[in-house]
Amino acid sequence: IAKTALNILTVTLLLSRCCDANRKLLVFLIDGFRYDYIDDLQNLAGFREIVENGVKVDYMTPDFPSLSYPNYYSLMTGRYCEVHQMTGNFMWDKDTMKEFLIGTNPDSRLPMWWDGSEPLWVTMQKLGKRVYMYYWPGCEVTILGVRPTFCEEYVYNPSEKNLTDSMESALNMLKSDKADMAGIYYEKIDVEGHHFGPRSPEIQRAIRSLDQAFQILHQKIKEKNMRDDINVVLFSDHGMTELKWMEKVIELDKYIDMSHIVKMMDRGPVVSVWPKQDKFEEIYRNLSSVDNMNVYKKQEIPHRFHYKNGRFVSTLTLVAEPGWFITENKAKLPFWNNGTEKAVGWQHGWHGYDNEFMDMRGFFLAQGPDFKTNFRAGPIRTVDVYNVLCKALGIEPLPNNGSWSRVECMLRSSAGAVRAALIYSFLLLLLLLPH
Ligand SMILES: [Zn+2]
Repeated sequence: IAKTALNILTVTLLLSRCCDANRKLLVFLIDGFRYDYIDDLQNLAGFREIVENGVKVDYMTPDFPSLSYPNYYSLMTGRYCEVHQMTGNFMWDKDTMKEFLIGTNPDSRLPMWWDGSEPLWVTMQKLGKRVYMYYWPGCEVTILGVRPTFCEEYVYNPSEKNLTDSMESALNMLKSDKADMAGIYYEKIDVEGHHFGPRSPEIQRAIRSLDQAFQILHQKIKEKNMRDDINVVLFSDHGMTELKWMEKVIELDKYIDMSHIVKMMDRGPVVSVWPKQDKFEEIYRNLSSVDNMNVYKKQEIPHRFHYKNGRFVSTLTLVAEPGWFITENKAKLPFWNNGTEKAVGWQHGWHGYDNEFMDMRGFFLAQGPDFKTNFRAGPIRTVDVYNVLCKALGIEPLPNNGSWSRVECMLRSSAGAVRAALIYSFLLLLLLLPH
């Protein structure tokens, strides 16, 4: 009887164990997708299917700054920016004088920008598993000596065809066991959000066509009979807020002598400035008087940003109030054309602000055998996603800043299921005992 009981217990525990290591994971990184873009699911059948069959969180708070590269890396490492060191889309290393520039600048592939932390795909490869990545920024970089098994290199604004082709390829690779995890990056929502603003008809159209791609995805998962073998997780890096030109631009050269600045990186909500040493206090004083903007010395940056200890953080960091845009001078902006609405590349949306600002919130959805169905979870943070992905892949997460208690609820496994299995086994045992 004892042996039978033990067998039952083992089998039950095995059955209830979450996250089969052979299960596949498909991840979508949707740039600039604000949490409320799917508030109304009436005309979004693709998203609706995921919400009904899976998990939706109320919103996801990005890491500071609410920009792409910092959050790409927080998502894939579970660490704050000051820990993984990817602190901006534009960075400068004062020792080597090298620059990291969003896009395809060759110096941006130098190990120093990337080796601050080990992203999930590198850990997977090190474990002998295979990762396929499509247009994912950075998949072409050798990080800690490792590259993914496959990388379709990033191009600006991959098309819808690129997206659906990537889905088809990813599913085939996962199905045929050539890949254990696949990641697909899509930029269009961010591009349209910048150009036309988060409330524009153009953004609505872009969301609807993305939705159609997800309808195709559901169809393909069913056709390939993969529903029980694949977890699908979707998330964004940050949200988007409306930008009103003319009224809300801060021009730094109105307040300081730009020749006293050794280096300035980026423009917009967060600007990094390295003043000449002997002019530092003067520049700081002058910038402190500017309205609608905060200026911080490195160690005075609020702790809650988890940013100040970053290796590439400047001696002065300027953070604009929501909706404001910091630049040296309007005329120097590439998309500035005497302030006429007709200017090419005119921008109506931006992000990068204080990560607690509501419009900066991103989204997170998940579905598959390891996730609860029709489950609405509370808010999570970007750094929490990594633990969920590790769990779904059945691998041990590296030390990180994510909170397990914020995400545990969305998984089908968890303590509750194990407890239920134990009770179930005990009851079975009672039945089997001779009366
Ligand atoms: Zn953007």
